[in-house]
Amino acid sequence: MAIFSEVETLDGQEMESLQWKRLNDTVAHVYHNVPFYQKAFEENEFTPEDLCSWNDFQKLPFTKKHHLRENYPFGLLATPQEDVVRIHASSGTSGKPTVVAYTEKDIQNWGEMVARAIYMAGGRKGDILHNAYGYGLFTGGLGLHNGAERLGCATVPISGGNTKNQITLIQDFKPRIVCSTPSYLLNIGETMKTLGIDPADTSLDYAVLGAEPWSEEMRDSIEDMFDIKASDIYGLSEVMGPGVAMECADCQDGLHIAEDHFLVEVIDPETLEQVSDGEDGELVFTSLTKEALPIIRYRTGDIASITRGTCPCGRKTAKMSRVKGRVDDMLIIRGVNVFPTELERYIGNVKGVTPHYQVHLKKRGALDHAELHVEVSEDFYGTLPNYDLNHPTAQELIKNLQKVLKMEALVSIDVTLKEPHTIPRSEGKAKRVVDSRKAMSKSI
Ligand SMILES: [Zn+2]
Repeated sequence: MAIFSEVETLDGQEMESLQWKRLNDTVAHVYHNVPFYQKAFEENEFTPEDLCSWNDFQKLPFTKKHHLRENYPFGLLATPQEDVVRIHASSGTSGKPTVVAYTEKDIQNWGEMVARAIYMAGGRKGDILHNAYGYGLFTGGLGLHNGAERLGCATVPISGGNTKNQITLIQDFKPRIVCSTPSYLLNIGETMKTLGIDPADTSLDYAVLGAEPWSEEMRDSIEDMFDIKASDIYGLSEVMGPGVAMECADCQDGLHIAEDHFLVEVIDPETLEQVSDGEDGELVFTSLTKEALPIIRYRTGDIASITRGTCPCGRKTAKMSRVKGRVDDMLIIRGVNVFPTELERYIGNVKGVTPHYQVHLKKRGALDHAELHVEVSEDFYGTLPNYDLNHPTAQELIKNLQKVLKMEALVSIDVTLKEPHTIPRSEGKAKRVVDSRKAMSKSI
């Protein structure tokens, strides 16, 4: 089977020795060049010479997002500022943004990783690639762009938004690959339909989708709509950007981690202990090759599991499951923990509704209250007398949805049906939870 780089087929021991060497270099690099890490290591009575085994590595402190904020803007730089050739930042919803920086070598490595990822999704040199990820401080747009050029794709840097223009260029340029958030690609497909264009008739064969959690059911909807293979890409700016892991289009069963550049751990977010392979926990990454902003044991907040072994595609790198959700996004509805994507999975199985949904959190008296808003399909809507969503047929659909969510996700939740095209469409990351409570607690 076609594989972009031989490093993806290194056996376990070869990969481990490559990682071990690079880890030692990284630990020494941050200790000698980043006062934050020097102090953190010394507080743990640790110097780079103490790193003699993988157990020693686990004595190193974790890095968290607030550490990046506290060292805003350039406090975590491990190279002189004149060696930096790119700066990205994520807009913080609270406080200062997190800033990340890259040397020329970092940009090259990142490009190589993303080229590998696009190749894994089915992209090849010479393809036209429509990049609808947002360009700017967000790593998505330029990250995919750099990798697409590295692979040799004719890259169309359209960025997000201006959906009708996106459609014109897809029809005129005839790209084979599209990169976007899944919710935005769904939006593009729906808009095509309203213009009388069948998304399945476009030139697109493959999609690289990410930057937000999504479900298998969402994948099915997108693949059917466009008649394409849609694969999941993972990454986050604090670690590098998109391309940290990528699903192979051949198997679509887990995302291959670029283990030559990142060391992955999965921990229990409460006890901070490592969990076994196959078990869900919080992903923790250590960069192994980054020069400008290396990161040690970064707690991502993303919940997933890891499996190891040879994939049917031939790659031997560890695979992570789809991200179920972020630790911060978990809802507790009537005592049951649930991620919005789990609701998405089950909504997708119910006939009569669409994958467009939002969970609204409100105060009702002293209590918190959750309500699922979900759009009905146009076909279903057309069968309702006077388009009446209070009609007994619609009420029956609500009961059916509630029954499925109760049985499958163990969640009892109020459901409100919405008319087609009334839930806001995303042009980037979809907003799945609308929290209009004053308190920040998400316990309901
Ligand atoms: Zn594979």
